[in-house]
Amino acid sequence: MLDGPIPGGEGLAPASISPEACPALVLNADFRPLSYFPLSLWHWQTALKAVFLDRVQVVAEYDRIVRSPTTEIRLPSVIALKEYVEQGRWPAFTRFNLFLRDRFRCQYCGGRDELTFDHVVPRAHGGRTTWTNVTTACAPCNLRKGGRTPEEAHMHPLTRPWRPTRHQLMEAGRAFPPNYLHESWRDYLYWDSELEP
Ligand SMILES: [Zn+2]
Repeated sequence: MLDGPIPGGEGLAPASISPEACPALVLNADFRPLSYFPLSLWHWQTALKAVFLDRVQVVAEYDRIVRSPTTEIRLPSVIALKEYVEQGRWPAFTRFNLFLRDRFRCQYCGGRDELTFDHVVPRAHGGRTTWTNVTTACAPCNLRKGGRTPEEAHMHPLTRPWRPTRHQLMEAGRAFPPNYLHESWRDYLYWDSELEP
């Protein structure tokens, strides 16, 4: 059933750790993560179920073994979908994706705290709630700008609001690695990033 490569001698998770601490990194069929930020991770039970249903290929495993009365298997640490999941070119316009586009920084002062979103051209002036008119702003800057245009407030965003592609958001997400990275994930998360100048 599990015919993926068995990692050896790589200092993987000790057998004593809880399965709960062994999520599987989920790759698309092209071996790129389904998502970088948040990172596409499945709970170990979900991952095992997908393995048994033959929907995924096991790419790497933890040392951690789980046992049932009849069998024992290693928990997968990296799995790849057998069928490619098409992802749209344009990500949804959400608060989270907006912050991600702006790298979680206020676009007026560069601060990282108390982030809100600001209509660059205020709604009262006909500004719309779109990628190209909304920017990340900290609460103090948002308050200071109020209902004024950038010209009136003498406050211009560091980057003009723009509509990102999914690829651009994924690139932004790579700048925010999660707290916990299993070493078997690294090849799939950063294998191409070191080639950048
Ligand atoms: Zn600010």
